[in-house]
Amino acid sequence: MNDPEVPSDVRQSYRDPLVEQLRSQGRLEVGRLELLLPASFGFCWGVDRALAIIEEARREHDGKRMWLLNSLIHNPRVNKDMREAGIGFLKGEQAHQDGMDVLDAKDVVIIPAFSAEVEDMQALEQRGVDVVDTTCPWVIKPHKRTLKYIKEGFTTVIHGTVGHDETRSTCSLVEHEGGHFVVVHDLEEASTLASFLRGEIDFAALGEALHPQAFSTGCSAADLQRIGIINQTTMLASESRAIGDLLREALVVRSGEEALAQEFRDFDTICRATQDNQDAAITVIDEQPDLFLVVGGYDSSNTKNLARVGDAAQIPAYHIESPDCLGDSISYRERHSGEILVKHDWLPGEGRLKVAFTAGASTPDTILGAVIRRLAKLAGEALPERELSV
Ligand code: SF4
Repeated sequence: MNDPEVPSDVRQSYRDPLVEQLRSQGRLEVGRLELLLPASFGFCWGVDRALAIIEEARREHDGKRMWLLNSLIHNPRVNKDMREAGIGFLKGEQAHQDGMDVLDAKDVVIIPAFSAEVEDMQALEQRGVDVVDTTCPWVIKPHKRTLKYIKEGFTTVIHGTVGHDETRSTCSLVEHEGGHFVVVHDLEEASTLASFLRGEIDFAALGEALHPQAFSTGCSAADLQRIGIINQTTMLASESRAIGDLLREALVVRSGEEALAQEFRDFDTICRATQDNQDAAITVIDEQPDLFLVVGGYDSSNTKNLARVGDAAQIPAYHIESPDCLGDSISYRERHSGEILVKHDWLPGEGRLKVAFTAGASTPDTILGAVIRRLAKLAGEALPERELSV
């Protein structure tokens, strides 16, 4: 397999000279603008690796039909590029109408970085297609941990999002191995689970409070006697830690400190890139910018959580998908409700303006660069441009 660190044509096409300049300097002052970029942002190792694997597979399987099982990552531009490169989709938006039935044994199917459900892997095996697996090694970590929990008789509590591709693959693995899971999306849902563990509400009330698909088939109150926590790799790390502490304390109330070793496990499976991007974002937020723009797909879990990093600082923070979101008004995803909102008078018309940016792990530098240029233009400043270094 290709060395993921080797530059490639596809990945090269996502580079941007302005972003590279800002990456090396950390900040840029132009006229009334001060632009800040954190030490870590944008494309992660796992996405870079997935693109490298696909490039190599395209060379190796030249002339064969290629399919992606589902979105490679949660970024519309990257998935559009995949389509334009002739790669079809079997599931999700714009999937082939026949789904997996379109496949024949000569086809090649790419497993996205999020991994895949066990049932899909079995269906591909039955069809005899060539499988190219880009599953990120960081996604394997919660899979391994949950297998250990099942072996030890623990039910897996997943801090994640029901329906997110990675969590779907983890849930499918747990059920396939005969285990049980409960998915909690946030601290609020974890608090309800903690209330159940402390005996304050019954299992039916817990079921009503969580997502209808938050439980494995047949999961009952008895299955929550022993629990082990994992995280979807892209969740907000501080929230994951708080959820772990909350559930641990609830079990101490229920069974006492001495029973904890028998009833509780907690293992941090947040990926390094997510953690680094969140930590670095906190550093630029500490500089008290006037605006904080978080760039990435609205479906992207790690970007959504990056937008929540500045909650406590009360800095105007906007999760936007592309430069098209910026104009006389700003169109953005509200970080808590998930609604797409429009705000007028969002950009101060005069005076010094300090703007911090960051980008999700699935956001190409080219999109971030285009956002920075659009912001500068709207602020009435022209940015210096350099050539890309090769
Ligand atoms: S965000 Fe993390 S888990 Fe997801 S692809 Fe990137 S490195 Fe892997």
